[in-house]
Amino acid sequence: ALNQTMAELGSNINVSFEFFPPNSEKMEKTLWDSIERLSTLAPKFVSVTYGANSGTRDRTHKVIKDIQEKTGLIAVPHLTCIDASRAELRDIAKDYWNSGIRSIVALRGDLPEGLEKPDMYAEDLVRLLKEEADFDISVAAYPEVHPEAKSAQADLLSLKRKIDAGANRAITQFFFDVESYLRFRDRCVTIGIDTEIVPGILPVSNYQTLIKFAGFSNVRIPNWMHQRFQGLENDQNTRNLVGASIAMDQVRVLSQEGVKDFHFYTLNRSDLTYAICHSLGVRPQISIPA
Ligand code: FAD
Repeated sequence: ALNQTMAELGSNINVSFEFFPPNSEKMEKTLWDSIERLSTLAPKFVSVTYGANSGTRDRTHKVIKDIQEKTGLIAVPHLTCIDASRAELRDIAKDYWNSGIRSIVALRGDLPEGLEKPDMYAEDLVRLLKEEADFDISVAAYPEVHPEAKSAQADLLSLKRKIDAGANRAITQFFFDVESYLRFRDRCVTIGIDTEIVPGILPVSNYQTLIKFAGFSNVRIPNWMHQRFQGLENDQNTRNLVGASIAMDQVRVLSQEGVKDFHFYTLNRSDLTYAICHSLGVRPQISIPA
């Protein structure tokens, strides 16, 4: 009976996985091992980051193409507009559409040092992409507020504009305080955003790196997390178990709160994400002969 319940639970749930383009042979192998393992969970889509620490669009595009060809999964490139002209973005959009890509994660990208006001925000990119073709578009959302936003309300309005420009869903920055996501989801509803606000789940395995990243991305690390990771600086295995357990608690609460779609920041690794999906009831599809 328990198995049946888990299967029923899992069948209502959509997962998606985010990867980044590898920059060494070793990382390439890690990526493909992960894609192979996670593809058995029949994700709704897999996405590949672009820019900043992820390198050129060519690298993103190559991984996307390889995923499409080798796995048949829906492969979704991230695209940023901070570092390209409108003409370049239009070419990229055409090129993607012509190679069979129908979904894009549309982002502004981080401001380069010294630049205070960008030419384009993500909402402008959404509009441009929609003008080129009828892409399915995901945009970024920030339950704990984007660091540059004037206020939480201004940030929420900016998300509303991205949705009004044609985005089909929002994927959130990662968070650890589940309440902050739930409050944010309520505020989205209040302001008239009717798309899914897909929580971005980061299974933590390197706590020190997380602290650095959370600092400049305005993500709050609750005190209880410090306590759970304390003393594990040289103990990767236990860190992984703790990280998985934290994320499992998180997805369990979110699932009880009616969340059906989950996006995982896999960091190109499969173990933690696979275990967390398993705990959600998302299992490989095994066909039983009649
Ligand atoms: P926007 O939605 O344009 O918002 C940026 C800031 O500007 C916000 O503070 C917003 O409130 C404010 N704003 C919006 N409109 C206006 C306006 N008209 N006037 C004044 N302020 C305004 N980065 C990468 O480089 N590559 C990736 O692959 C990548 N993938 C990501 C995936 C996800 C799911 C998430 C959550 C983030 C990702 N990022 C990526 C990071 C993202 O590029 C940065 O957070 C960036 O700083 C903001 O991008 P955005 O699309 O949210 O921008």
